[in-house]
Amino acid sequence: MPLKTYWLEHAWLGAHVEPGVALEVSEDGRIATLTSGVHAPPRGAEVLRGLTVPGLANAHSHAFHRALRSLVQVGSGTFWTWREFMYQVAQNLTPDTYYALARAVYAEMALAGITNVGEFHYLHHAPGGAPYADPNAMGEALIEAAAAAGIRITLLDTAYLSAGFGREPNEHQRRFSDGTADAWAERVGALRPREHALIGAAVHSVRAVPADQLATVARWADEQRAPLHVHLSEQTAENEACQAAHGCTPTELLAENGVLGPRTTGVHNTHLTDLDIGLLGGTRTGTCMCPTTERDLADGIGPARRLQQAGSPLSLGSDSHAVIDLLEEARAMELNERLSSRTRGHWTANALLTAATADGHAALGLPDAGRLETGALADFTTIALDSVRTAGPLPRLGAETAVFAASASDVRHTVVGGRHLVRDGAHTLVPDVPAALAESIAAVRG
Ligand SMILES: [Zn+2]
Repeated sequence: MPLKTYWLEHAWLGAHVEPGVALEVSEDGRIATLTSGVHAPPRGAEVLRGLTVPGLANAHSHAFHRALRSLVQVGSGTFWTWREFMYQVAQNLTPDTYYALARAVYAEMALAGITNVGEFHYLHHAPGGAPYADPNAMGEALIEAAAAAGIRITLLDTAYLSAGFGREPNEHQRRFSDGTADAWAERVGALRPREHALIGAAVHSVRAVPADQLATVARWADEQRAPLHVHLSEQTAENEACQAAHGCTPTELLAENGVLGPRTTGVHNTHLTDLDIGLLGGTRTGTCMCPTTERDLADGIGPARRLQQAGSPLSLGSDSHAVIDLLEEARAMELNERLSSRTRGHWTANALLTAATADGHAALGLPDAGRLETGALADFTTIALDSVRTAGPLPRLGAETAVFAASASDVRHTVVGGRHLVRDGAHTLVPDVPAALAESIAAVRG
């Protein structure tokens, strides 16, 4: 007996769009059956009009950066001046204020069709660096916030131990540091996965974890068979400092210390050498592009196409949340490549959607999400094909409509584990998401 039946007016099945699909959800929140050629909704089925695609995976998030939106976009300066603003907000975060903010941000994600977030979490301790009574209070707040917003989370608990090569954490960064990678591993070992939550690992960057401690983090992730993420070569200054300290690139340093591999994802991967691209592709290390953040922070355009050709699977993240719109991230990856190469058509719409769905979930340790097929998690989202952006001949083009024309505002429905979380554009657990954002952001901007 299925728990629930949905009827999808149009469904993207990975390589093409099928009209009229009935989808039954099993008791355990997975897709029990998927039947094509069902041209009218079966009796009792919930009708999803528009284009249904698998739930979108936001593979790189720092939830609290949402509080900086608009405040930082107007300024001049660099990544490094932006970072000073970011530290100001971080100062005001406690487990309670972070829970409220993250719940609102994750609810915004659900409204944008995101069903799983990779939270790259390094704000571990109280201001000054003293642990909370529960040393994982901040991580637990994020896990609870995802539950309250109804989405899945992979908590990428981040090792952040130094301010730079051979430099102690500064006043702001003391909250991030466990002192040593062994102490990091001990704290993270106390976190438990839940039905909606996986525990993964992250190396903040080669700046923030001394080279002789990288292997400790990699070993923990290997033992747990957990995803391992790392900010990689987002800025040329990081490359220069790494060359000065170690005589090699950040990618080479990670390779030497056993950090690369198929469960690892490099985030940004912007300023790479040919050797770096070969190392990342050859080890099947993933690449998470965050195009809206990378353009906001004036990072540059990473070689996504060459990385993928070398063997690196691509995923997408909204990172600093200048906008939360995975469809925009997907098309921006293609459009960035056009600007830098002055040629068009590097990815098909199917390939862009695969990065936003199946490959994104795989990067977060959920290979059984991100696809509309029997046995997969019943996580999906429906994009309107009759909005001002998508109306006209576009519906017949199916997947391309979603990637090249639609925005997060066109998301009508989001279903997670078979549960109808966003219905007709309204969140069913967080009734007023804008108010939740406004209140929680006011509380931390100070
Ligand atoms: Zn980041």
